[in-house]
Amino acid sequence: MEKIRIAVQKKGRLNDSSLKLIADCGIHFPKNSGQLKSPADNFPLEILHLRDDDIPGYVMDGVADIGIVGRNEIEEQRMDLPVMENLSFGKCRLSIAVPREKSYTGVNDLEGQIIATSYPYLLSRFLAENSVNAEIHEISGSVEIAPAIGLTDSICDLVSTGSTLLFNGLKEVETIFHSSAVLVRNRGLSPSKLELANRLLLRIRAVKRADAFKYILLNVPDEKIDEVINILPGLKSPTIMPLAQKGWSSLHSVIPEEAFWDNIERLHNCGAEGILVLPIEKIMF
Ligand code: ATP
Ligand code: ZN
Repeated sequence: MEKIRIAVQKKGRLNDSSLKLIADCGIHFPKNSGQLKSPADNFPLEILHLRDDDIPGYVMDGVADIGIVGRNEIEEQRMDLPVMENLSFGKCRLSIAVPREKSYTGVNDLEGQIIATSYPYLLSRFLAENSVNAEIHEISGSVEIAPAIGLTDSICDLVSTGSTLLFNGLKEVETIFHSSAVLVRNRGLSPSKLELANRLLLRIRAVKRADAFKYILLNVPDEKIDEVINILPGLKSPTIMPLAQKGWSSLHSVIPEEAFWDNIERLHNCGAEGILVLPIEKIMF
């Protein structure tokens, strides 16, 4: 039977979340213990464990059919890969940072500087767009220490919380690219492989949607039902069932995670009791 191959990062920041996403899709695969490939046993899928830098190229060449990788790698390597889905992990930005004690008033301050980065293409594009002449010094790891050891004036590197910059006495002055993990595919997939990729995509979307919502159950005095319904921005209208105790009903609905705390307080103030909030595993529309 035909299978699709998905490339995921072997070790590093995207590894856990990529494998968890596949597992949350109900796909079983052996726990990786260093091998290159792991076959799933209940979906026609094989996982290839690779360095993240190699993923765009392997998907481009068709060694892997699909892959999970940071958008930053795809842009930097200028790979023409269709993005099937933006994923909610691996969020970061590519930023320029300078020593904290240096004054910085704008991009022109970068003129004539030496900048260390692992992203020479994205940096050179930014500099060209801003008509700044600077020298790009490409290094592959520990970019953040380059100014402190006197190698360069500033750096251009991935940042998420900013704590690494802070720790190295640097301040972020320009953000040149926003990134997150994406699901990409080879452009020339056969119809049967494309169908498998789309089956996986359907599952990924169901998992993503479920993560964004909570299931809520609460008891409400009957005269407050309308008021409570107005507060709940549910998927559809809520389910209402009478409780054994007269004058009270149980109300069930699905609410967006981001509206959660605001709504809980308002519901409580409305007289709602016994509020239960449950995670949702999947949502299929
Ligand atoms: P590999 O050994 O696979 O080459 P790596 O060291 O190049 O690993 P990681 O540091 O694990 O890569 O980062 C992988 C990806 O995680 C990045 O390309 C980026 O998309 C994302 N990422 C998210 N937040 C950050 C961050 N703060 N710093 C670096 N990468 C981040
Ligand atoms: Zn890498």
